Amino acid sequence: MRPAILFPLFAETRSLAGVGPRLERLIAKAAGTRLVDLIFALPAGVIDRSYRPRIAAAEPGRIATLTVKVLAHVPGRERRQPWRVRCGDDSGVIDLVFFHPHKDYIERQLPLGETRVISGRVEHFSGRVQMVHPDYVLGVDEAASMPAIEPVYRLTEGLSQKVMGRTVRGALERVPELPEWLDPVFLRARGWRSFNQALATLHAPQGEADLSPLTPAHARLAYDELLANQLALIMVRERLRGRKGRQVVGTGVLRRKALAALPFSLTPAQLAAIAEIDADMASPLRMLRLLQGDVGAGKTVIAMLALLSAVEAGMQGAFMAPTELLARQHMAALAGMAEAAGIRLALLTGRERGAARSTLLTELKSNAIDIVVGTHALFSEDVAFHDLGLAVIDEQHRFGVHQRMQLQGKGHAPVDVLVMTATPIPRTLALTAYGDMDVTRLLGRPPGRKPVDTRVLSAERLNEVVSHLQRAIASGARAYWVCPLIEESEKIDLAAAEARYAMLKEALGAALVGLVHGRMKPAERDATMAAFKAGDLKLVVATTVIEVGVDVPQATIMVVEHAERFGLAQLHQLRGRVGRGSGKSTCLLVYHQPLGEIARQRLKVLRQSDDGFVIAEEDLRLRGAGELLGVRQSGLADFRLADLAAHGELLAAAHDDARLIYSRDPQLKSPRGAALRVLLYLFGRDEAARYLTTG
Ligand code: ADP
Ligand code: MG
Repeated sequence: MRPAILFPLFAETRSLAGVGPRLERLIAKAAGTRLVDLIFALPAGVIDRSYRPRIAAAEPGRIATLTVKVLAHVPGRERRQPWRVRCGDDSGVIDLVFFHPHKDYIERQLPLGETRVISGRVEHFSGRVQMVHPDYVLGVDEAASMPAIEPVYRLTEGLSQKVMGRTVRGALERVPELPEWLDPVFLRARGWRSFNQALATLHAPQGEADLSPLTPAHARLAYDELLANQLALIMVRERLRGRKGRQVVGTGVLRRKALAALPFSLTPAQLAAIAEIDADMASPLRMLRLLQGDVGAGKTVIAMLALLSAVEAGMQGAFMAPTELLARQHMAALAGMAEAAGIRLALLTGRERGAARSTLLTELKSNAIDIVVGTHALFSEDVAFHDLGLAVIDEQHRFGVHQRMQLQGKGHAPVDVLVMTATPIPRTLALTAYGDMDVTRLLGRPPGRKPVDTRVLSAERLNEVVSHLQRAIASGARAYWVCPLIEESEKIDLAAAEARYAMLKEALGAALVGLVHGRMKPAERDATMAAFKAGDLKLVVATTVIEVGVDVPQATIMVVEHAERFGLAQLHQLRGRVGRGSGKSTCLLVYHQPLGEIARQRLKVLRQSDDGFVIAEEDLRLRGAGELLGVRQSGLADFRLADLAAHGELLAAAHDDARLIYSRDPQLKSPRGAALRVLLYLFGRDEAARYLTTG
């Protein structure tokens, strides 16, 4: 249950004076439906009204506060024309401009001959000084009531700054004095103040500098949010692990046979990863481990060896892939090892139906099948194992937090879980998304990969690129030419890709060039790729569809056009399409002007590194966490106050803090524990907090 002290903050915004259904909808769009959403909607800007020039000296474009005398009212001649109120001081004249004014109101506010203090943005318009809809029109005696400096909030269509500001202030007034959940020594060392004080400070910026995420007030609140996140993850993890796991110790018999069948030996990085997994499985605690490594880094072999260990221990294994295609690929990749080890491997996807499916389910139940590879079909109600010992989940680029949770139910005892991801997630992000898991990183270049010579060049040199391609193709090379295609400008992008296709056909010979894009039928696309793989086509012009699942080792040239429009991770993936065979490979990143500073730096990162983890860290630094890999949509970095690009250092501290808290007071029973419960609910970590009472 949410602590009572938080009730006022979780009230609906409509409980505020002046907020009716219309305003409620607008506020919901701009910030959220509860008061807590409003207080966490931090100012995006600041207005300084302390600039008080005389009219003649007022700089256009600036917010100015002027003391003026009302000289004349000039109503618009037609309805569409604005009402002008001419005002002046001893230096000049300014027109206050009102569209659709109420006559009574405007005449009452600005009576002829009176002196008024006005504040708003000064403009010059066809030779005249004017101010459209002043923010303030006050009598001289009321002028002191105008704040010299005001926060600016993010708005939505139909919501004014004035109303939003008033509503946020209303919400702030209702914030109860919350207990301190941070360690007082830590708080002092950081020079931070209480939650309430920090919140008030953030909503009262005194200048642009106060908007930085690095201010002590912002850092304090960001830390609070990160701590709630980390504490929640630890509590969930410990609960999952708390139920004792089983000790799964293989004999090594099957592994030896499987390894003997491989045409290569494992890399030191692979051996180290396996050692970590073995130790987890052998421990009486449940394994929850994340294995990170670039596409092609060799994760599949590791997964198979772990699964074989479970089989050696008399149990079964499950290997789940995000798509049917990948499940089939894994199945094919593992078949050789399975055969060598003499175990039974089966495939279960949505496509297995009817009698075949029933037989399969019976065999799973009776332990006739040792390892099952499949899609989320593995989670169907009617799938039952004889004795599931290990589940491997290959997430590739998806983040299946929910599926991980579903796994609990499938075994007798808690099942060990190994999650694999090909997305090199920066440490900071891994902590927030997978803080509940132990992480193994499979470092180093994927086995057999050669470094790719990466060059960055301007589109003005496109001719050189084309003649380079002509020469390379004449001597037998195969190449990709990637054009961007994003939804917002799909039509234009598609046209550009088609134009490029036509141009390259002309230059290289129509019979040698193919085109693939997302709008084509899969069969057509597959046919083109097959022709490329077979060597009938030498160049494929493609939109980014080639990112997934393409493997043509003979391709040695990758040209990416409009490289400045791609994300770093995406470019890294694209580059990974070449350098797979024995030939020397090149990646040409072609940019179109103008190239911004950030884009320039990003391309530089790619030229300097081919380590997915380094690139991901740089991506985070350059783009901010929100944009990275579309994490916002995936719910990965779902923070309101913390900005991982700015607060990465705090995350590590919050992680340690959370561990310490949990080790000392797992049920949060101490006085600080009670305050931490408030923190968890404040940041919506109800899920974790619920374990406190039930678990
Ligand atoms: P991932 O699952 O990480 O994307 P895979 O396990 O599919 O990568 O490995 C990519 C390719 O590298 C496969 O063809 C695999 O057989 C091969 N491979 C894996 N480990 C090694 C190794 N140690 N030496 C050489 N090739 C390897
Ligand atoms: Mg793979």
